[in-house]
Amino acid sequence: MNIQDLEQTWINQFDKPLVIGGPCSAESEKQVMEIAEKLDKNYVQVFRAGIWKPRTKPGNFEGVGAIGLNWLKRVKDELGMPVATEVANASHARLALEFDIDYLWIGARSTVSPFIVQEIAEALRDTDKVVLVKNPVNPDLDLWIGALERLAAQGIKKLGVIHRGFSSHNKSKYRNEPQWQIALELKDKFPNLPILCDPSHITGRRDLIFEIAQQAFNLEYNGLMIETHCHPDEAWSDAKQQILPETLKEILVDLTLRKKNDTSDRYSTLLSQYRNEIDNIDNQLLGLLASRMDISKKIGKLKKEHNVAIFQADRWNVLKKLAIRNGVRMGLSKDFLDQLLVSIHKESVELQNQIMKE
Ligand code: PEP
Ligand code: MN
Repeated sequence: MNIQDLEQTWINQFDKPLVIGGPCSAESEKQVMEIAEKLDKNYVQVFRAGIWKPRTKPGNFEGVGAIGLNWLKRVKDELGMPVATEVANASHARLALEFDIDYLWIGARSTVSPFIVQEIAEALRDTDKVVLVKNPVNPDLDLWIGALERLAAQGIKKLGVIHRGFSSHNKSKYRNEPQWQIALELKDKFPNLPILCDPSHITGRRDLIFEIAQQAFNLEYNGLMIETHCHPDEAWSDAKQQILPETLKEILVDLTLRKKNDTSDRYSTLLSQYRNEIDNIDNQLLGLLASRMDISKKIGKLKKEHNVAIFQADRWNVLKKLAIRNGVRMGLSKDFLDQLLVSIHKESVELQNQIMKE
């Protein structure tokens, strides 16, 4: 079975975006039942709770283990809510199936490990449960796709992914950088693969959950997974990012859903006008870039004749500083300018290198 041939049918059963809510970790039967009861079933269709918790460092709470499966079962039987949990090895997977858990997800720390994914895939062979694959902690799209291929190869048809952000050495306001372009590339490759966003693990803090969830809807994601707890500050794991069931409902009510398209005349006329303008500007940009590279080549020849090195740090630093200052004044972001200039400079150096070799 191929990921391209997956049917999206399992997500189409929901007439609203799929929302999976519940605590990071199951802590006690009482805590699990209390949260599940408080979730508004009109907005949250599936209950989540981690019972095996892969923690970055030893000594932290590592989950209640298999006993938590009974608590999830109670949520399912008494509240009629489908339930979800993370499986991190083959024995978790077998136990989850035994307890009839409806949604199983593979965590970010497991997706990075082909052996683990393979053993989980084999344990779940031909299951009709939904299996969701979180992105690997590192920004590696192939690793993410590889995990999906391993599951698809075992006849698992109800697949989906969860975008939970990527860890990075740089400190930013997010716990895990969203790097939206990676998830969008996956969406582009496999348009039938349902994609959920996990704003809790992207942000690591509750005040940013709304903006990330809205961004996911702006990008036409199929749903959300959001950590919810009745006493968030006292949660045994991920306390800073968990929100009250009431807050989750407020967020869901306030989010604006975006449709795929709009058929009104106003929309299509304006859109094609703007797109024409963009196409024209892109052409001019490309023409200018080509002229700039021609001049770079002339400089390369001159340097070769005079035996001068290609890379001139002083010139590059001044050029970059000036361009960033001007660009920022024109309303462009520093990050964007940085990337653009580095990429133009890289190509220039490459061209001059070719000339030196001739
Ligand atoms: C979780 O969902 O609680 C979890 C551990 O997530 P991740 O694998 O994204 O870190
Ligand atoms: Mn968590």
